[in-house]
Amino acid sequence: DGLRCLKLNSVSRVCSAPVEGDDIRLLQWNILSQTLGQHNDGFVRCPEEALTWEHRKYLIVQEILQNQPDVICLQEVDHFKFLQTVLGSQNYAGIFFPKPDSPCLYIEQNNGPDGCAIFYKRDKLQLQGYDTRILEVWRVQSNQVAIAARLRMRSSGREFCVATTHLKARHGALLAKLRNEQGRDLIRFVKQFAGDTPLLLCGDFNAEPVEPIYATILGCDLLRLGSAYADVKLDREEILHPSEDVGEFVAKSMKREPPYTTWKIREEGEECHTIDYVFYTPDRLKIKNCLDFPAGEEIGKNRTPSFQYPSDHFSLVCDFELLPPTENGK
Ligand code: NDP
Ligand code: CA
Repeated sequence: DGLRCLKLNSVSRVCSAPVEGDDIRLLQWNILSQTLGQHNDGFVRCPEEALTWEHRKYLIVQEILQNQPDVICLQEVDHFKFLQTVLGSQNYAGIFFPKPDSPCLYIEQNNGPDGCAIFYKRDKLQLQGYDTRILEVWRVQSNQVAIAARLRMRSSGREFCVATTHLKARHGALLAKLRNEQGRDLIRFVKQFAGDTPLLLCGDFNAEPVEPIYATILGCDLLRLGSAYADVKLDREEILHPSEDVGEFVAKSMKREPPYTTWKIREEGEECHTIDYVFYTPDRLKIKNCLDFPAGEEIGKNRTPSFQYPSDHFSLVCDFELLPPTENGK
C-alpha cells in the first residue's frame, strides 16, 4: 500500500499507487534552480551536459509525477511557467512566490528569479485561500520567502494547511542565528494563517537538526509540530507524549532524522547532511509512510546532481492520514 512497498524494496524510488480517500501525499523538494545550478553552484563533479535544462526538466517532471503527490512543495523554482504547463496538464494548479532579490537575477543567462511554489491536485483538493510572506529578521525583510495555502478535500470537505519555505543558506553561527529568526517569523506567519487547522510545514531549512531552528519549530507550543521522517517508524503512542519535557522531545526527534536529504561535491569538498524537513501536526495527522532516500552506492561516487539525479537535494515524499478532531476540540 502506498509508499510502504518502497520500504521493502528501496532500490526503486518509483511509487505507483496514489493514496486513497482522505489521505494526503506530500512531495517536498528543492529542485535546484536552473540558473544557480548551471552557473553558480560549482558542482565540480557533475558533467556540464547533465546540468542543462534540456536534460534536467524531464527528470524533474518524472520525479514529481511518478510519485503521484496530492500536494507539491518546491524550492529554487526558476521555471514556474514550464512546471505550471506540464503539471497543469496532469490536473495540478500552482502558486509561485519569488525571492525579492533572487541571486539568479545577477547571472546573465537567467530565467527570472527563483522562489517557492506549491501545487495541488485539482480534482482532489480545492484551494480555499493562500498567503505569501517575505520573512523578517529583527523586523527587517530578508531575501527568503514562504507560501501558505488552505486546502479542502473535495470528498469530505475537511481542510488542512500547507506551508513551504527556503531559508538562508551557508554555514556559520551567525547564519544559524539568522535562520532561527526566520523560523520565528515563519511560525508567526503560519500560525496566523492556519489557526488550529492541521498543518504541513515543509521546505529547505538549510539547517541540520542540531541548529537552533529545529528546536524552535518542534518546541513551539503554538504549533505543536512533529517531524514526519523522524516519526514514521514510531507507534502513535510514542509520538504523542503530552507530558514529555520539550527539550527531551526535540532531542529524541533529532536523533531519528534521516542521515541526509542532500549530497553534493563542490570545490570545498563533499556535503552530505539533513537540511530539508516535513513538519506536521501529529494531533491531527498520522504519518503513514515516508519515501526512502537512495543509498550511497545508488547515488554514485560523484554524488548529485548527475545524469540520474537532477537536483543536489532528494525529494521527501510523505503519506498522511487526516484524523478527526479530538473531543476537546484540538
Ligand atoms: P543564500 O545564501 O540563501 O543562497 C542563495 C543560493 O545559493 C541558494 O539557493 C543556495 O542553495 C545556494 N548556495 C548555497 N551554498 C552555496 C555555495 N557554497 N556555492 C554556491 N551556491 C550556494 O542567498 P540569498 O538569497 O540571501 O541571496 C544572496 C544575496 O546576495 C542577494 O540578496 C543578492 O542581492 C546578493 N547577490 C548579489 C550578487 C551580485 O551583486 N553579483 C550575486 C548574487 C547575489 P541551497 O539553499 O540549496 O544551499
Ligand atoms: Ca541550492
